[in-house]
Amino acid sequence: MPKYRLVINIMILLGLLAGMHLVSGRLQRLTPPREAVLTTPANSSTSGDQSSEPPAREQNPAGSGVTGQAVSGTVPGTNRNRLQPNELGKVMILEYHLIGDKEDRWERQYDNFRKDLERLYREGYRLISLVDYLRNSIRVPEGYTPVVLTFDDGSRGQFNYLEKDGQKVIDPRSAVGIILDFAREHPDFGTAATFYTLYPPFGQARYWQEKVRFLVEHGMDIGNHTANHVNLAKLSAAEVAKEVGTPVKTIREVVPGYEVKTLALPYGLLPKDDAPVREGEFAGVPYRNLAILLVGAEPALSVNDSRFNPYRLPRVQAIQSELDRWLDYFARHPEERYVSDGDASTITIPEKALARLNPRAAAGKTVKTYR
Ligand SMILES: [Zn+2]
Repeated sequence: MPKYRLVINIMILLGLLAGMHLVSGRLQRLTPPREAVLTTPANSSTSGDQSSEPPAREQNPAGSGVTGQAVSGTVPGTNRNRLQPNELGKVMILEYHLIGDKEDRWERQYDNFRKDLERLYREGYRLISLVDYLRNSIRVPEGYTPVVLTFDDGSRGQFNYLEKDGQKVIDPRSAVGIILDFAREHPDFGTAATFYTLYPPFGQARYWQEKVRFLVEHGMDIGNHTANHVNLAKLSAAEVAKEVGTPVKTIREVVPGYEVKTLALPYGLLPKDDAPVREGEFAGVPYRNLAILLVGAEPALSVNDSRFNPYRLPRVQAIQSELDRWLDYFARHPEERYVSDGDASTITIPEKALARLNPRAAAGKTVKTYR
């Protein structure tokens, strides 16, 4: 074992001992033996922001020697019909734009959007809110993979009302209509989604405040996409504060007390000094973003991963080719997926990945490892 590796292991061990409770056990292997070298799809051309270098595989498991209280046999509650928990796996944050009647670079046809939900459901994915992901408070049943829905620009196809006999009904072909309808049939799938709107959002200007309140009342979120869909990289700090602060103030006026907690970058572009994007104040209203979302182009790391950076959060473009590419990839490489252990107070990971665990993310939680 090289010296630096030993030092890193000792540092991690100290971190583990300081902040968290480690349980080492053996889970029965549910998946075939892992390949020695994992491949990852090539980086998408849509990003330009984020390298898509695959995570280094641990050749020399840091977990060896870090044996806390050994638990023999399987970790209790393991569902053998499902994937092995791995809370260091990746999470897809899907990025939709237009929902409409055709397929295009920035448009998803509504029937295909419904098929996306069906496929995700069938393949063991469950919706969680972006904020729960960021706060490391993922609540999906054991053996399932969390997935996040995001919608940019706030177009009418995302949330449309139909007017019938003087009554308003949610358009069953709009994204919100499809999500709610799907959840009626599959209540365990969830309805979490974040809308990065422009103003006034969702067409139908007379209804926009009502729509925003409806989303918040139904557990969905409004995110920040700047006031004017600007390239933030070109603005001064004061201009950034105005662009980022204005939507926060606007939403507060419509939903008192509501906190806009995340920002999706228009064009994926960020100023060199991103401090004024992360937090600031405009017109007496403070704002603070827990995360800054990019435009592309790959699944995001687990919050438990020491390389996780919430201020450069990648997303997967929700178009057919990218959805196929990543869903097929995770079907071939289930060990790369974030798979929940069903308990938000514990972190279950393969022992050989222990070196990647961020002790701060694990503070206050019980860490369970398996070989
Ligand atoms: Zn946009």
